[in-house]
Amino acid sequence: MATGNINVTAENIFPIIKKFLYSDHEIFLRELISNATDATLKLKHLSTLGEVKGDIGTPMLEIKVDKEAKEIRIIDQGIGMTAEEVEKYINQVAFSGAEEFVEKYKDADTGIIGHFGLGFYSAFMVAEKVEIFTKSFKEGSQAVRWECDGSPKYILEDTDRTERGTEIVLHVDEDSLEFLEDGRINELLSKYNKFMPIPIKFGTKTETLPLPKDADKDAKAEEITVDNIVNNPNPAWTKKPSDLKDEDYKSFYRELYPMQFDEPLFNIHLNVDYPFNLTGILYFPKLTPNMDPKKDRIQLYQNQVFVTDNVEGIVPDFLQMLRGVIDSPDIPLNVSRSYLQTDGAVKKIASYITRKVGDKLAGLFKSDREAYEKKWNDIKMIIEYGMLTEDKFFEKSEKFALYPTVDDTFFTYTELEEKIKANQTDKDGKMVVLYASDVKGQHSFIQAAKDKGYQVLLLDTQIAPHLIQKLEGAKENVMFVRVDSDHIDNLIKKDEEVISKLSDEEKETLKPIIEANVPKESYTVQLEAMDSEANPFMITQPEFMRRMKDMQATGGGGMMGMGNFPDMYNLVVNTNNKLVGEILNSKESDTQAKLITQAFDLAKLSQNLLHGEDLTNFIKRSFEMIK
Ligand code: ADP
Repeated sequence: MATGNINVTAENIFPIIKKFLYSDHEIFLRELISNATDATLKLKHLSTLGEVKGDIGTPMLEIKVDKEAKEIRIIDQGIGMTAEEVEKYINQVAFSGAEEFVEKYKDADTGIIGHFGLGFYSAFMVAEKVEIFTKSFKEGSQAVRWECDGSPKYILEDTDRTERGTEIVLHVDEDSLEFLEDGRINELLSKYNKFMPIPIKFGTKTETLPLPKDADKDAKAEEITVDNIVNNPNPAWTKKPSDLKDEDYKSFYRELYPMQFDEPLFNIHLNVDYPFNLTGILYFPKLTPNMDPKKDRIQLYQNQVFVTDNVEGIVPDFLQMLRGVIDSPDIPLNVSRSYLQTDGAVKKIASYITRKVGDKLAGLFKSDREAYEKKWNDIKMIIEYGMLTEDKFFEKSEKFALYPTVDDTFFTYTELEEKIKANQTDKDGKMVVLYASDVKGQHSFIQAAKDKGYQVLLLDTQIAPHLIQKLEGAKENVMFVRVDSDHIDNLIKKDEEVISKLSDEEKETLKPIIEANVPKESYTVQLEAMDSEANPFMITQPEFMRRMKDMQATGGGGMMGMGNFPDMYNLVVNTNNKLVGEILNSKESDTQAKLITQAFDLAKLSQNLLHGEDLTNFIKRSFEMIK
C-alpha cells in the first residue's frame, strides 16, 4: 500500500469545490458518466485498432445506488487505469484541473460553472470519501484501489478486482443524501444522459413477452427481468439525414419533449464538420399565444452529453423559439455569455444555423408552395423577426418571405411588385403598398381600396410596423400605408382632381362650425372633395403617427416618449356629400350641432372609437330620430 500527498498548491481545495454553486452539485453524475463513457469509447477505438485482445462485447455503464450504505457506484467496462495512471491522471491531471477551476471561478459569476468540465473531482461535491477500483485493459495489469477523503492525502494499493474497467464509489455526504433516491438519479440521468453513446443501466425492469400466435387462450404471458437502460445511445441527430424518414424525425421530437403533443411543422438537419463540428436537428414548432418560451427549448449537447437548454448567444435570437438539439464540441462553455457572443467560432456557428434555416425555408417554398403557404401563419413571426434582426437572413428572405393579402393570396415581394406597380403608383412615382392589420375592424377601408382594384396586404404581427420600416428603407421608391390612415384617394394620390361642390368661401364657413362640435385636442378637421357617394365623415389616423406609436409599444425603433402621446386622428369631411351641404345650409346652430354629432359618432362607430357615455348618448339620440 502506498499513501501520499496530492501535490496541491492551493491549501485544501475541497471545501471550495463543495461550496461552489450548491444548485449545480448535481453535475457530479454527468461528469463521472462522461469519464466512464470516454474510457469505454477509448476501449472500443483501441479494439478496432487491434490493440485490445479478445472480443470486448457490448460494453455498458452501470449506476448503482445503495441507500443503506449511502453509496453511489459508477461502473464502466472501459480501458481502466494502472497504478501509474491513477497517480498521473487522478492525482495530477484531475487535480490540476480542479485547481485551475477553483482559481478561475472563485470570484466569477455563477451560472457558468455547471458548464465547466470540472471532471473527476466534482465527486467531492456530494461525497465525503471517494474510492476508485480499476483494472487496466493492458495484459497482465494489476487492479488497484485508490481512496481519498477530501483532504490532500490519498491511499493507493493493490486490490483483487478481476474485470477490466473502473468502478467509482461515492460515499455520500450527509448534506447530499437526496442523491440516494432513485427518483433523483433517474431525473439526472434523463436530464444529462438521455442520449449518451454508451448504454447506461440503472436497475432492472420487468417486460412481458408477447404470446406466440398459436398460444392457448388461458396461457399466461411470461414476464422476464431485463436491464433498465436509461438512454438512447443512437439519437436521430447522430444519423445521416438520408437514413431518416419523416416519421423518425417526428418520433425523435416526442423523445426529446415527451410532454409536447403538437407535431412540429418541419425540421432542419444540421451537419457540418468544417470549419467547426456541429450536428443537430432543429424543429419549427407551431407557435401558440400561451406558449411558455422557457419550456422545451433547444438543447445543447457536447458529444451527446447534455450541457444546457439556454442557447442564448449561440443560436441567433430569432431562432430561440425553435426546438431541437445542437451538438458541438467546439462551443467554449467555460466562458461567460458575453464572451460567447464575440467568440469567432460561435459567430460562425450562429451564421451557419441562420443560413441552414434560410435554405430550408427556400427549399420548402420551392418544392411545395401550397403547403408552405398553409404554414405561413405559424412561421411568420419567426421569419419576420429574423428579417428584422439579421441582415443576411433579410437578403435571403426574398426567396421565401410571403406577403398575404386580406383574401389569402400569397405574394413574394417580387410578385407583389409586379402585381401592383401599374395601378398603385402615385403621381410622384412612389409605389404604395396598402395593408390592413385587422380584416374585420378595417372592413370599410379595405372595401374602398378593393373597389379601386387595389391589393390590400394583411400584416398583423406585432413586429409588422418594424418590418415595414425596414422594407421601406431597403427597397426603392416604395411606401407602406395602412388602409385606414386616410381616404383611399389620398393614400394613392393620382393626378385626377375631384371637383369640389363647395366654394373656398363656403369651406371657410363650414370648417369652424364642425370644429366647434368635435374635441379639437384629438381630432383635426380636414375638408376633402371626394366622391359624392363616399361617406360624409370619416376618421383616419395618420400612418406616421400610428406606426411610431405601434413601434414604441413593441419596443425600440421608435421615437422616445411617443408611447405617451395621446392618440391623434383626422376627421375627414367629404365636402361633396349631400349631408355636408345640408349642415352648411342649415341656419339653426342646434340642427347643425345635432347633424355633426350624429355623423361624427357614426364615423367613430365605424372605427370602434365610440364608447361609454358617448355611445349611450348616441343610441338614445338615434332612437329619438326614428321615433
Ligand atoms: P478530464 O476527463 O477532463 O481529462 P477528469 O478530472 O475528469 O479530467 O479525469 C482525469 C483523467 O482521469 C481522465 O483524463 C482519464 O485519463 C482518467 N479517468 C477518469 N475517469 C476514468 C475512468 N472511469 N476510466 C479510465 N480513466 C479515467
